[in-house]
Amino acid sequence: MTKSKVDYNCSKCPGYCCTYPRIVVTDKDIARLANHFGISEDAARLRYTRQYEFESDDPDEYVNERILKHRKDHIYKTSCMFLDPEARRCTIYEGRPSVCREFPNGKKCGYYGFLKFERKHQDDKEFIPSA
Ligand code: SF4
Repeated sequence: MTKSKVDYNCSKCPGYCCTYPRIVVTDKDIARLANHFGISEDAARLRYTRQYEFESDDPDEYVNERILKHRKDHIYKTSCMFLDPEARRCTIYEGRPSVCREFPNGKKCGYYGFLKFERKHQDDKEFIPSA
Protein backbone atom coordinates (compact mmCIF):
# COMPACT_ATOMS: atom_id res chain seq x y z
CA MET A 1 0.00 0.00 0.00
CA THR A 2 1.39 3.41 -0.92
CA LYS A 3 1.42 6.10 1.74
CA SER A 4 -0.76 9.13 0.97
CA LYS A 5 1.28 12.19 0.02
CA VAL A 6 -0.99 14.47 2.05
CA ASP A 7 -2.38 14.32 5.56
CA TYR A 8 -5.93 15.48 4.76
CA ASN A 9 -8.96 14.22 2.91
CA CYS A 10 -11.17 16.83 1.21
CA SER A 11 -13.89 14.24 0.60
CA LYS A 12 -14.50 14.11 4.37
CA CYS A 13 -14.61 17.89 4.83
CA PRO A 14 -17.71 20.09 4.32
CA GLY A 15 -15.65 22.60 2.32
CA TYR A 16 -14.48 24.91 5.06
CA CYS A 17 -11.82 26.56 2.86
CA CYS A 18 -14.57 27.41 0.34
CA THR A 19 -16.21 29.56 3.01
CA TYR A 20 -13.24 31.87 3.52
CA PRO A 21 -14.67 35.37 3.04
CA ARG A 22 -11.89 36.50 0.71
CA ILE A 23 -11.04 34.05 -2.06
CA VAL A 24 -8.79 36.16 -4.23
CA VAL A 25 -8.91 35.99 -8.00
CA THR A 26 -6.34 37.29 -10.47
CA ASP A 27 -6.90 38.36 -14.07
CA LYS A 28 -5.68 34.91 -15.11
CA ASP A 29 -8.32 33.31 -12.86
CA ILE A 30 -11.01 35.49 -14.42
CA ALA A 31 -9.85 34.44 -17.89
CA ARG A 32 -10.07 30.78 -16.77
CA LEU A 33 -13.57 31.34 -15.38
CA ALA A 34 -14.64 33.04 -18.61
CA ASN A 35 -13.28 30.13 -20.62
CA HIS A 36 -14.97 27.62 -18.31
CA PHE A 37 -18.37 29.23 -18.82
CA GLY A 38 -17.83 30.29 -22.43
CA ILE A 39 -18.42 33.97 -21.69
CA SER A 40 -16.36 37.15 -21.90
CA GLU A 41 -13.87 38.09 -19.20
CA ASP A 42 -15.89 41.22 -18.44
CA ALA A 43 -19.03 39.12 -17.93
CA ALA A 44 -17.15 36.65 -15.70
CA ARG A 45 -15.68 39.47 -13.63
CA LEU A 46 -19.11 41.00 -13.14
CA ARG A 47 -21.05 37.78 -12.50
CA TYR A 48 -18.68 35.87 -10.26
CA THR A 49 -16.40 38.39 -8.54
CA ARG A 50 -16.47 41.64 -6.63
CA GLN A 51 -13.93 44.19 -5.46
CA TYR A 52 -13.06 44.14 -1.76
CA GLU A 53 -11.45 47.15 -0.16
CA PHE A 54 -10.41 47.57 3.46
CA GLU A 55 -9.18 50.98 4.47
CA SER A 56 -7.02 51.59 7.50
CA ASP A 57 -4.77 54.29 8.88
CA ASP A 58 -2.06 51.67 8.88
CA PRO A 59 -0.92 51.32 5.26
CA ASP A 60 0.18 47.74 6.00
CA GLU A 61 -3.47 46.82 6.66
CA TYR A 62 -4.88 48.36 3.50
CA VAL A 63 -6.47 45.74 1.23
CA ASN A 64 -7.85 46.17 -2.28
CA GLU A 65 -8.46 42.95 -4.15
CA ARG A 66 -10.87 41.07 -6.39
CA ILE A 67 -12.64 38.15 -4.69
CA LEU A 68 -15.19 35.47 -5.55
CA LYS A 69 -18.81 36.25 -4.67
CA HIS A 70 -20.49 34.37 -1.84
CA ARG A 71 -23.98 33.07 -1.23
CA LYS A 72 -25.84 31.81 1.83
CA ASP A 73 -24.75 28.48 3.24
CA HIS A 74 -26.65 26.27 5.68
CA ILE A 75 -23.50 25.18 7.54
CA TYR A 76 -21.16 28.16 7.61
CA LYS A 77 -23.53 31.11 6.98
CA THR A 78 -21.97 31.91 3.58
CA SER A 79 -19.72 30.16 1.09
CA CYS A 80 -18.19 30.68 -2.31
CA MET A 81 -21.01 30.79 -4.87
CA PHE A 82 -19.47 27.77 -6.61
CA LEU A 83 -19.64 25.39 -3.65
CA ASP A 84 -22.41 22.81 -4.07
CA PRO A 85 -24.31 23.31 -0.77
CA GLU A 86 -25.38 19.68 -0.47
CA ALA A 87 -22.51 17.70 -2.01
CA ARG A 88 -19.98 20.16 -0.48
CA ARG A 89 -17.90 20.06 -3.65
CA CYS A 90 -16.62 22.65 -6.11
CA THR A 91 -18.94 22.91 -9.11
CA ILE A 92 -16.25 24.46 -11.32
CA TYR A 93 -13.33 22.21 -10.39
CA GLU A 94 -11.53 22.56 -13.75
CA GLY A 95 -12.09 26.31 -13.77
CA ARG A 96 -11.33 27.11 -10.14
CA PRO A 97 -8.88 29.90 -9.26
CA SER A 98 -5.19 29.34 -8.51
CA VAL A 99 -5.61 29.97 -4.80
CA CYS A 100 -8.04 27.01 -4.62
CA ARG A 101 -5.68 24.81 -6.63
CA GLU A 102 -2.80 25.53 -4.27
CA PHE A 103 -4.66 25.26 -0.97
CA PRO A 104 -3.60 24.24 1.68
CA ASN A 105 -0.08 24.83 0.35
CA GLY A 106 1.47 21.83 2.04
CA LYS A 107 0.92 18.30 3.27
CA LYS A 108 -1.37 19.32 6.11
CA CYS A 109 -4.65 21.22 6.34
CA GLY A 110 -5.21 22.93 9.70
CA TYR A 111 -8.98 22.64 9.51
CA TYR A 112 -8.89 18.95 8.56
CA GLY A 113 -6.64 18.25 11.56
CA PHE A 114 -9.15 20.05 13.80
CA LEU A 115 -12.08 18.20 12.21
CA LYS A 116 -10.38 14.83 12.67
CA PHE A 117 -9.59 15.61 16.30
CA GLU A 118 -13.18 16.72 17.07
CA ARG A 119 -14.77 13.77 15.25
CA LYS A 120 -12.59 11.36 17.19
CA HIS A 121 -13.37 12.98 20.55
CA GLN A 122 -17.09 13.38 19.80
CA ASP A 123 -17.11 9.77 18.53
CA ASP A 124 -19.06 11.01 15.51
CA LYS A 125 -17.62 10.61 12.00
CA GLU A 126 -20.03 13.23 10.62
CA PHE A 127 -19.51 15.87 13.31
CA ILE A 128 -19.04 19.45 12.05
CA PRO A 129 -17.78 22.00 14.58
CA SER A 130 -20.10 25.01 14.61
CA ALA A 131 -18.86 28.05 12.72
S1 SF4 B 1 -13.99 28.02 -6.65
FE1 SF4 B 1 -14.44 25.93 -5.98
S2 SF4 B 1 -12.64 25.32 -4.76
FE2 SF4 B 1 -12.58 27.57 -4.97
S3 SF4 B 1 -13.60 28.34 -3.13
FE3 SF4 B 1 -15.16 28.17 -4.75
S4 SF4 B 1 -16.11 26.15 -4.46
FE4 SF4 B 1 -14.16 26.18 -3.33
